[in-house]
This record gives sequence, C-alpha cells and structure tokens, in this order.
Amino acid sequence: MPEHDLREIRDAVAKLCAGFPGEYWRELDRERRYPTEFVRALTDAGYLSCLIPEEYGGTGLGLSAAAAILEEIQRSGANGAGCHAQIYIMGTLLRNGSDAQKRKYLPGVATGALRLQAFGVTEPDAGTDTTSIRTAAVRQGDRYVINGQKVWTSRAEHSDLMFLLARTTAREQVKKKTDGLSVFLVDMREALGRGLSIRPIRTMINHATTEVFFDNLEVPAENLIGVEGRGFRYILDGMNAERILIGAECVGDARWFIAKATAYAGERRVFGRPIGQNQGVQFPIARAYMACEAAALMVERAAQLYENGQPCGKEANMAKQLASEASWQAADMCLQTHGGFGFAEEYDVERKFRETRLYQIAPISTNLVLSYIAEHVLGLPRSY
Ligand SMILES: Cc1cc2nc3c(=O)[nH]c(=O)nc-3n(C[C@H](O)[C@H](O)[C@H](O)COP(=O)(O)OP(=O)(O)OC[C@H]3O[C@@H](n4cnc5c(N)ncnc54)[C@H](O)[C@@H]3O)c2cc1C
Repeated sequence: MPEHDLREIRDAVAKLCAGFPGEYWRELDRERRYPTEFVRALTDAGYLSCLIPEEYGGTGLGLSAAAAILEEIQRSGANGAGCHAQIYIMGTLLRNGSDAQKRKYLPGVATGALRLQAFGVTEPDAGTDTTSIRTAAVRQGDRYVINGQKVWTSRAEHSDLMFLLARTTAREQVKKKTDGLSVFLVDMREALGRGLSIRPIRTMINHATTEVFFDNLEVPAENLIGVEGRGFRYILDGMNAERILIGAECVGDARWFIAKATAYAGERRVFGRPIGQNQGVQFPIARAYMACEAAALMVERAAQLYENGQPCGKEANMAKQLASEASWQAADMCLQTHGGFGFAEEYDVERKFRETRLYQIAPISTNLVLSYIAEHVLGLPRSY
C-alpha cells in the first residue's frame, strides 16, 4: 500500500486511540479487565477486518495496513493484545477453509459479530515442541470427540470461535511427527459447559489468557479445517503474518518509550539542568532510537515481501526478533530515564515495560527464532 495511504490510516488510528488515554489502560490493568470499549471502537471503524477480502465483507487492505494499525495502537500507549488476533488468526480459515466455511464465518468476523480471536496450540507438557501435543480428536460418525487441555489460550473468554490444534493420529503412528495434527473451528458458544471449560490465568500483564479443558467435547466433522492430518502446515502458514504484525506492535511500543523518555529527559531538571543534557542519559535514548528504526525497516521489508506473495520466513522471523529486542531495550532505557518515577503507575512506563516483555516469549521465544536462522538460513545442524 502506498505510504500516503498508510499515513492516513495511521493518523485515523492515532485519533481513535487518543480517546483511550493512559487512565483507561491503567484502570483495566489494575482490574485485569478486558478492553471491551476499545475493541468495539476499532471493530466499528473497520480496522480489525483489514485482512479480510472485500468479498467477505472486510476492507481487504493488506498486511502493511494491518502493521500500520497495530503499530499506531501500541505507539499511542494502548495495549492492542486484546484485539490483535481478531485481525490475523482468521487467515487460517481464509487460506485453508472450504468455500462454505468461509461464507459461513468470515462476514461475521469482518463485522465483529463473530469474535474469532482465540487460538489453542500450546499445551502444558509440550511447550514449544508443538508436535508433542496430546489433545486428541477422535472421529465418531459425523463428529469428532475431543479430550485434552490447552494453556495460554488468550482471549478465550472474549471469543465466540476458537481454532484448536489437536492430534487426529497418534505421533507413534505417523511417518513424520508433523503429520496427524488437525485444526478445528470450535464454536465456543455451543461448547461452553458441554465439554469445554475455561479457567483464567492471572499474569503480570492484562492479557485475558486462560487454560482450556476439553472433556469429550463433540465438534461437528464439518468444522475440520482443510484436510485431516495437515493441521501443522496450516499453523505454520499463519506464522509469518503473525510474526510481522507482532514486530509492528513492538516497533510501536519502542516508539512510545522513546518519545516518553525524550520528553521526560527534556523536562526533568536535576543539578540545575535538564537530565537530557547529560550524555549518560542521551546516549541510551539514541541507541534505542537506532535499534527501533533498524527493526522498523525489517518489519516493513517483511510486510512488503508477504504482500507480494514472496517467501518471507527469514525476514518475518528477523522482524519479530529485532523488534521485540528493540522494544525491550527502549523499555529498559525509558524506565532508567524516569528514575524512581518510572515505577509510579501514573506514568504508564511500568505497565508498558511489563507488557512489551511478553514478545520475547510469545508467540515464539527468542531462542527458537535464533535456531530457525541458524538452521534454515545459515545451514547449521538442527539443534533439537
Ligand atoms: C501471555 C501469553 C499469551 C499467550 N497466548 C497464546 C495463545 O493465545 N495461544 C497459544 O497457543 N499459545 C499462547 N502462548 C504460549 C506461547 O506461545 C508460549 O509460551 C511460547 O511459545 C513458549 O512456550 P513455553 O512457554 O511452553 O516455553 P518452553 O517451550 O517450555 O520453553 C522454555 C524456555 O526454554 C527455551 N527452549 C525450549 N526449547 C529450546 C531449544 N530446543 N533450544 C533453545 N531453547 C529452548 C525457550 O526458548 C524458553 O525460553 C501465550 C503465552 C503467554 C505467556
């Protein structure tokens, strides 16, 4: 998308976010409450349907626009974690679903009438080793019966639908461990209390994340996405978009921290002069700025490749890693620049500091990105 169109989107998103200032996010954070009003405003403005093609009721703007939207949300000081998944996880359905499934669900997802923002992949005993998951789906006539447990299924209590990755063939019975996994679209409105239960996990950030339990949950066979046993591939297909967009959010966070620190360093006077006059205070801000700008270029490059349908696994992984490191560098710098006041809730620094730390762990931890680069880009032996 041309830069001037992105500029318009950025300005409009920034204007919307200005209606949700620090006090709003602080109060939610304190109570670990979901940002219902904020998500509603973004939905009504059409921003969350930016990756859904127009034929299904979305705005079809593409990944650069989605990246610009999420970056601006974070840059305003907001926490977009409550809504980012509504933008991109429907990609699994768009790319791999049948025509009937797409017609049934995508228009509702586009208007926000259907909230599709929960994705159950991670399990307590499998961790990053996704092919070791134990949640099993067994076909019985026209249904699958599902048993098992997921952990860290974010927004499950604020979603009507969830994607679920489950084993349909035991790991011992498949040639490749990545075979035999399948993706299901679970209608949680029907499933809650009938084999599906959700338990919230309180965390150091306001993220509405949960544990989800399946106890003989019956899912219609027509809710299988794509071909049985090919689910791992479908999940992989969605990862590049997710990594690029998380990278954009981290760039937004880094820009917020840098602006906040710069302003404070200019205002705060100690020893009769602004603290920002000291090189010891200036240089970390300058370093964080450079790291952020470099990461932003990688996010932009990855998004362009993705939009042009070109391979972008390397760039998407590097974008996510560099941006999450840049945002953490900026967070640490911003806290240091604020001295003791960085710990006071009213400055929002401590909240954003906690929030941005997540992105070195989820959706993929830094070590696993480094392993990917070492193995798939540099050709080093596989380490795990
Ligand atoms: C707030 C939050 C929200 C989340 N939301 C979701 C969600 O919506 N859906 C979902 O499915 N998941 C979600 N996750 C899960 C997230 O994707 C995982 O936490 C993440 O992928 C890491 O997995 P793990 O926690 O099991 O760590 P582990 O796999 O147990 O790893 C622990 C540590 O060991 C390192 N490690 C492991 N293996 C290796 C190796 N071979 N080489 C080097 N280092 C290694 C890792 O890098 C990590 O630092 C969320 C997590 C959090 C905290």
